[in-house]
Amino acid sequence: MALLEMHNLSVTYASDKGPLKAVRQISLQVEKGEVLGLVGESGSGKSTLVGAMLTLLPPNAQASGQLLYHGQDLLALPESAKRRLRGNGIATVSQDPFTALNPVITIGKQLVAFQHHKPGSKADKLNHAVKMLERVGISDPQGRLKQYPHELSGGIRQRIAIAAALLTEPELLIADEPTTALDATTEMQVVEVLKASRQLVDGAIIFVTHDLHLVSALCDKVAVMYAGEIVEAGPIGEIFGSPAHPYTRALLACDPERIEVATRELPFIAGSVPMPSVHRVGCPFQPRCSLAFAPCGSETPPETLLGEKGRTVRCHKVNADA
Ligand code: ATP
Ligand code: MG
Repeated sequence: MALLEMHNLSVTYASDKGPLKAVRQISLQVEKGEVLGLVGESGSGKSTLVGAMLTLLPPNAQASGQLLYHGQDLLALPESAKRRLRGNGIATVSQDPFTALNPVITIGKQLVAFQHHKPGSKADKLNHAVKMLERVGISDPQGRLKQYPHELSGGIRQRIAIAAALLTEPELLIADEPTTALDATTEMQVVEVLKASRQLVDGAIIFVTHDLHLVSALCDKVAVMYAGEIVEAGPIGEIFGSPAHPYTRALLACDPERIEVATRELPFIAGSVPMPSVHRVGCPFQPRCSLAFAPCGSETPPETLLGEKGRTVRCHKVNADA
């Protein structure tokens, strides 16, 4: 059994303009030991998808399908069980560390509170916190314990947020654009911390990013999202080495040496992403795709398995050429 399994997972938001289907019929598995990169343009539904995994969707969101964690459907859990799971099994690091850290409580007290599920004295937990701060590369950890989040720089705050998430000993760590708010130098330092955190998570890590270079540096597997769908997913080497979906190909095309050259932002692709209104026929990328042919505008491409390593793609052209 995979650690996390999604089957036909969809999320629809109620809005003034009518229902918005932000995540559409996603099927994906995350295995223990895996680091998965979730990549896609702004608005492609990445945060909505991880919001579902974190059982943190807003009240105007309605999820359907299945989202199994250890075989248990998270969508069917009562609120109390969802709360228990957050911070005890599933942890998150977000773009803004202020969402994880309380502004009016010292770092030390907060890092002790993040260990509430574990036995041990307060002194033990403070000790543990100091060791974790050292592991995420923070100098003078003892001094940091007495400080408040606003006294720290963005990079230090984000490292502390990562330390806090790791102190909960998560089985699934979900980081949603954890370096987007940082300058380039600080970003690289935080990336190193995230790389090292692999050793500390006895399960899986999901990184949400629009930075292909970050995906190649950190992940084993990548899922490419486009307009609420996963258009292609599989092992990093296969997808970056020979992208099958025209959207993935377009993402990588601007980068002649592919992943060797840092692609800090998703490259510009002419045309625009379809609106997430509920009604849609055919492939979402069809209006921007130079390879589109008859079925692309009218039939949803089925998910096709490529090769032996669980790689999937949704593209009529790939199917026709196979
Ligand atoms: P970004 O890269 O900008 O973070 P994203 O891939 O994380 O984008 P989401 O934030 O999941 O995308 O948004 C997907 C779609 O859902 C967008 O069209 C967005 O406007 C819409 N959306 C997100 N949150 C809500 C909400 N609370 N209510 C209504 N619509 C929402
Ligand atoms: Mg987002």
